[in-house]
Amino acid sequence: MSEKVFMTFHEKFKQYDLGEGHPFRGDRFVNVMKFFEEQGLLSLPQIILVEPEPALREDLLRVHEEGYVDLIFRLAEENKPYDVETPVSKEILEAALLIVGGAIKCGESVYGGKAKRAISLGGGYHHAGRSYGGGFCIFNDVAVLVEYLRARYSVKRFLILDYDVHFGNGTSDIYYRDPTVLYVSLHQDPRTIYPGTGFAWQIGEGKGEGYNVNVPLPPGTSDNTYLYALNEIFVPLAEEFKPEIIIANGGSDPHFADMLGNLRLTVKGFFSLSHVIRKTADKVCDGKLVLMPGSGYNPTILPPCWYALAAGVVGLEDINIKDPYPPPEEPPHCRKVVEGTINELKRLLKKKWACFR
Ligand SMILES: [Zn+2]
Repeated sequence: MSEKVFMTFHEKFKQYDLGEGHPFRGDRFVNVMKFFEEQGLLSLPQIILVEPEPALREDLLRVHEEGYVDLIFRLAEENKPYDVETPVSKEILEAALLIVGGAIKCGESVYGGKAKRAISLGGGYHHAGRSYGGGFCIFNDVAVLVEYLRARYSVKRFLILDYDVHFGNGTSDIYYRDPTVLYVSLHQDPRTIYPGTGFAWQIGEGKGEGYNVNVPLPPGTSDNTYLYALNEIFVPLAEEFKPEIIIANGGSDPHFADMLGNLRLTVKGFFSLSHVIRKTADKVCDGKLVLMPGSGYNPTILPPCWYALAAGVVGLEDINIKDPYPPPEEPPHCRKVVEGTINELKRLLKKKWACFR
């Protein structure tokens, strides 16, 4: 099996620029590629860099309701925002379709045998649901990828690991009643951050009960406690569920210097996180993995964090990148709170999952 890592990028991604003063700017894509180049990532023999094509209407319609897709195209034409923090324009729509197209191309590369792992750069628009957008997201590329693989390659079991600092309410909603998609999300306690949901007790419904796993983390949670939660919840679930592919989404917003979040991961923490994801994919699904890093609202810290994530997927032994300044210490109560949450989750989920009994 090839150890190649497929990566999608297009010059026009930078059109996903939500405007001056908005935390989501298009220069992130330019800056991250420059950083990758400086670090030598793009010249590694493993990396296959590919320009995606725009997603098609039929790709979107496997997830989104027709009326919603029409609405977004109409707003783009009229240059009107979807909501106060989610503007839409022709340029933004063109970039969004290319980013979603990137996710599809990543899935195709993994199932077409071109690569074992893939990185859909700029991906992970997890706040978009079937018939709504919001939180800077218009189309849910994570779900579009899932439905593409289901339709095209008959994939039957997906594990989505959402490590963005925010709960992926859109993705969770789409799969809340679906036992073929195990959604595991580590995020900042929703009482303290957008979108205000994503509690441990929200475990899915009907046939999907037990397949939605939320791990809310108190503000201040740092590398060790974060990785402890990941190893206690994500790893055993992946081993028991045995997905055919792992899709992981999240950018740099759990970093301690991010403007929108209050978790305290370091650059090294992101590298360890990515390493755990890759090792788990190697163990449970023959390495099949698509990573979708898109978020991050501190422009200085975004490139090194995305680099750390990519380096983990590539399988580099170590990275020589430091944080701009030392991280603040984890508040003393965090570990106890997280241990309590994990015990609670295991209690809620043990009926479905033998690993928690
Ligand atoms: Zn986020």
